[in-house]
Amino acid sequence: MPDTQTEAVRLLEETGAVKTGHFLLSSGLHSGKYCQCAALFEHPGVAAKMAAMLVSTLPPTLSVDVVLAPALGGVLWGYEVARALGNARRAAVRSLFAERQTGQAFELRRGFEIKPGERVLLAEDVVTTGGSVMELVPLVEASGGVVAAFAAVADRSRGKFRPEQPFFSLVKLDFETFEQGSCPMCKAGSSAVKPGSRAIAGAAGWSR
Ligand code: ZN
Repeated sequence: MPDTQTEAVRLLEETGAVKTGHFLLSSGLHSGKYCQCAALFEHPGVAAKMAAMLVSTLPPTLSVDVVLAPALGGVLWGYEVARALGNARRAAVRSLFAERQTGQAFELRRGFEIKPGERVLLAEDVVTTGGSVMELVPLVEASGGVVAAFAAVADRSRGKFRPEQPFFSLVKLDFETFEQGSCPMCKAGSSAVKPGSRAIAGAAGWSR
């Protein structure tokens, strides 16, 4: 049986969440791989399977009452992780998301509430710097909740996201990037394209 990382990468490639080609990234760098996690969530069955895979890697001693995700990117992942946790533990695990207006702090709206003492798993689809998900920590603490751990589909932080609490991810993605002048794909004669720019424009909130 393949290990979790290998199987998760395979599923990300199969759903088109990880693409191979010759891409011009928004940073101006070129890369042979590109990740757009929204493509995973076009396939709820696969997303549910990946959430169950993630949950199977969590220590049984890690107790979780609530999964909280930052909108928009983390919402579907958080929902699936909460469902998978509930199934695996035969317990009621709630799924909440936090929202914000541009430039404002994250808040819980829609009647969402974290009760004092509740243990909260913070969920994010792709962690690059971990900025968004870290902004949920003070929100949890202000409610009297306890941050239990972090859970992501993909860790793209190259080891830089190291929160105080445990951080679990299904895959570590570290795509090699090149300046245009030293890009081997350019040298081989192909030209870089913006990854799925039309498709992504409709889902800007999902992109990383
Ligand atoms: Zn290139």
